[in-house]
Amino acid sequence: MTDFTMKKDADGVAIVTWDVPGKSMNVLSLEGAAELGGLIDEALADEAVKGIVITSGKADFAGGMDLNVIAGMKQGGAQGVFDGVMGLHRLLRKIELAGMDPKTRAGGKPIASALPGTALGIGLELPLSTHRIFAADNPRARIGLPEIMVGIFPGAGGTTRLTRKLGAMMAAPFLLEGKLSDPKKAKAAGLIDEVAEDPVAAARAWVLSAKDADLVKPWDAKGYKMPGGEPFHPAGFMTFVGASAMVHGKTMGVYPAAKALLSAVYEGALVPFDQALKIEARWFTKVIMNPSSAAMIRSLFINKGALEKGANRPDAPDQTVRKVGILGAGMMGAGIAYVSAMAGIEVVLIDARQDAAERGKAYSENLLDKAISRKKATEEKKAEVLGRITATTDYAALEGCDLIVEAVFEDPAVKAEVTARAEAVIPQDAIFATNTSTLPISDLAKASKRPEQFIGIHFFSPVDKMALVEIIKGRETGPRAVAKALDFVRQIRKTPIVVNDARFFYANRCIIPYINEGVRMVAEGVNPVLIENAAKLMGMPLGPLQLVDETSIDLGVKIAKATRAAMGDAYPDDAVDEVLFWLADQGRLGRKSNAGFYAYDEAGKRQALWEGLDAKYPRAGEQPDLHEVQHRLMFAQTLEAVRALEEGVLEDIREGDVGAILGWGFAPWSGGPFSWLDMLGAARAARICDDLTARHGARFATPALLREMAARGDSFYDRFGAKRQAA
Ligand code: NAD
Repeated sequence: MTDFTMKKDADGVAIVTWDVPGKSMNVLSLEGAAELGGLIDEALADEAVKGIVITSGKADFAGGMDLNVIAGMKQGGAQGVFDGVMGLHRLLRKIELAGMDPKTRAGGKPIASALPGTALGIGLELPLSTHRIFAADNPRARIGLPEIMVGIFPGAGGTTRLTRKLGAMMAAPFLLEGKLSDPKKAKAAGLIDEVAEDPVAAARAWVLSAKDADLVKPWDAKGYKMPGGEPFHPAGFMTFVGASAMVHGKTMGVYPAAKALLSAVYEGALVPFDQALKIEARWFTKVIMNPSSAAMIRSLFINKGALEKGANRPDAPDQTVRKVGILGAGMMGAGIAYVSAMAGIEVVLIDARQDAAERGKAYSENLLDKAISRKKATEEKKAEVLGRITATTDYAALEGCDLIVEAVFEDPAVKAEVTARAEAVIPQDAIFATNTSTLPISDLAKASKRPEQFIGIHFFSPVDKMALVEIIKGRETGPRAVAKALDFVRQIRKTPIVVNDARFFYANRCIIPYINEGVRMVAEGVNPVLIENAAKLMGMPLGPLQLVDETSIDLGVKIAKATRAAMGDAYPDDAVDEVLFWLADQGRLGRKSNAGFYAYDEAGKRQALWEGLDAKYPRAGEQPDLHEVQHRLMFAQTLEAVRALEEGVLEDIREGDVGAILGWGFAPWSGGPFSWLDMLGAARAARICDDLTARHGARFATPALLREMAARGDSFYDRFGAKRQAA
C-alpha cells in the first residue's frame, strides 16, 4: 500500500500526491509519514529536482491523523507518544528547511502545497510546514485545526507554527475554538497564502520561480518578532492574561487540552522554534495521556461518526427520503421542515389552519434571510429551499410522501386523528413517525393501521441547532422503519441514537433527574449559587436552575403532573414539585416570562439568582461540600443512564454517551456518562452511590449492574463497548 507517490516532470518539479488507497479522505498513518519522508529525501537529493509540490489525488487534501496512530503511540506510554510526535516534527521540519544551509539559509528547494479541498488537522499542519500554501477556490472546503473540539490540540507543529505566523491573538480562534474557514477566509486570515483556480499549476509555477529568501520562514530569519508581541512585551502580555482568563472562564478548568495548548503557546513563545516544538510535544503528550482526551475522541469523533454512518442501522435497502409530510407547523414542525428542505427533500407542511401553516414556512424564510445577511446563503438558495416547502391544510397534498413526521399538539386524541387522516392518503409503504416527547410510541401506534411502519423520531429544540435525534422503536416497529428514520437523519446531517420505548425515552429521562436534584437542593436550603456553580465546575453547560428557566417552569409543572398521574404513590418528587409549583403560581415561568429561578432585566438578560428564593427557602446553616453537590448532580443523570441500559432502553453505550453530550450537554470532557463512570471506576462509583443513598435516599441506589461490575472489576467499555463494535 502506498499513500504517497512522486512524479518528476521535465521542468524539475516533483509532484508528491497523497492518495490513501481505499479511503475517500486522506488520513496520515505512521507508514504514510515514513513514505512521505522517503520521497522528500529522494527529491531533495536528486539534482534534477528543483522544487516539490505536495498535493492530493482526492477531492480533498486530508481529514487529519489516522487515530490508530495515536492509539499505537500510547501503547508505548508517555515516552511512546512523545517519541512518535517528535518523529513527526522531524519530518515536517525537514520539509520546512528543505535542505538549506543552516547558517546562510541558502540552497533549499522550494516546497509548496496544493490543496484541492478540505484540509484539517495534520492536513493543515503539513502544509504549514511547506513554504507556500495554495488552495483551490472551493467554497465547500474546510480549512483549519479542529483538534480542540475532540479534547486534544494541534500537536504536529500546528500550534507553534500558527502562533508564530499570526501571533497569539490572531491564532487564538483557530487553535482554541477550532474555527474552520473556507479557502478565501483562510487566506484573508493568513492561514494559507493563495487561492487559485488550479492550485497544482499555481504551486508548480511558484516553486519554479521561488528565490532562496522565499523559503525562509519568518521564525527562521534573523530578528524574528512574534506578531502582536511576545509574552514579556506589554502588548503580548495582555493577550496572554486575557486568554488565560477566557480559557478558564469557558472551560472551568475541566478541559485539559485548552489549558495545555495555552501553556504550549506561552512557553513556546519564550524560546527558539525547535525548542518550542519540543515543548509543544511535551504538552501534547500530557493531554494524550489524560483519560479525558481519549474519552472525548472516542465519543465525539469515533463513535459519533460510527453512529452517523449507520452503526446500528438494520440491514434494509436504501430508504432515502424524497418527500416528507410534516403534520403540525408549530415550533417543532417548522424547524423539521427547514432542516428537511435544506437537505433537498420536498416538504408538505400541514397545519389545521392555513395561516399557521404559512407561519411555519415563514420560519424557514426567516432563517434563510438571517443566513443571507451573514453571507451564508444567497437569494437563489433561499428561493430554492422555500420552493421545496408547500404549506397547506390539505391532507391530499401528502400523496406520494414516503415519510411523515407528526408534530401536532402533545395530545393522544389529536395525534390519533392526524395519523388516520394521513394514512388514508400516503402510500402503503410510507413510514409514519411521531415527534412526541412524552407519549409512549407503542400507545400512539395503536392509531396506525401499520404499526410496524410506525416509529418515534424525537427532535430537540431548536431543531436547526440541536445535533441529536432520538429514534424510538415502539413494540411493533419493524426494521425498515428504523432504517428509514436513520437514513432521514443522515440526510439532514444530524446524529442519531436508536432507543426502545419507555417513559421519556433516553435524553429527557436523564435530564429531568438532573434538574430535579438541583431544585430539591433549593428546597433543602442549599445555596442556589453553590448548586449552579457546582454543575458548571463539572463541565455542565448550564446549571440545573438555569436549565429549567430556559425550558420553562410551567413545562416542568406539566411534566410533574403527568408523571405523578402515571406513577401514583410511587412518585418520588414532591419536594421538587413544591418549589416548581410555587414559582409557577408566582407567575415566574422562567426566561419566557422574564422571571424564574433567576432575575432578568427588562431586555430579557439574565441577572443573578432571584433573591426571593432565599426568603421562601432559607439557607441551611451548614452548607454541603462542593463535591457532595457535584456528586448529587452527576449521579442523578448518570444512574438514570445506567438504568436505561439495564432496562434495555439503551442498547449501545456508545449511543448513551454520544446522546448525552449532544442531547443535553452532559459534561463533554468526560466523554459521556458511561465514560465518566469508567474513569471513576465501578467500585468507586458504587461506593459513592452507597454513600449518597445513605444520606439522600433510594434514588441513588447502586444499580445491580454497577455493583456487579464493581465486584468483577469491569468497565462499561470493556464489557459493552467492544462487543457492540465487533457486532
Ligand atoms: P406547537 O404548539 O408549537 O405546535 C403544534 C402545532 O400543531 C400547532 O401549529 C397547531 O396548530 C398544530 N396542530 C394542532 N392540531 C392539529 C391538527 N389536527 N392538524 C394539523 N395541525 C395541528 O408545539 P411544538 O412545541 O412544536 O410540539 C409539537 C410536538 O413536538 C409535540 O408532540 C411535542 O411534545 C413535541 N416536541 C416538542 C419539543 C419542544 O421543545 N417544544 C421537543 C421535542 C418534541
